[in-house]
Amino acid sequence: MVKCSICGGAIPELFLEKIKGTVLRQPGSKKQYPVCFACQKKWLTKEELLAKVK
Ligand SMILES: [Zn+2]
Repeated sequence: MVKCSICGGAIPELFLEKIKGTVLRQPGSKKQYPVCFACQKKWLTKEELLAKVK
């Protein structure tokens, strides 16, 4: 189960292990942050989303 890095909500996964949503990467880091659709709607730019990631 994949959880949203911002709200902690569950993100549904598609088959082939693809996440239904987006995965952010901090510049210069290999760490990935999955983000759910609800949070993508609240914060529209990648920069804003990254600022909210815990
Ligand atoms: Zn979320």
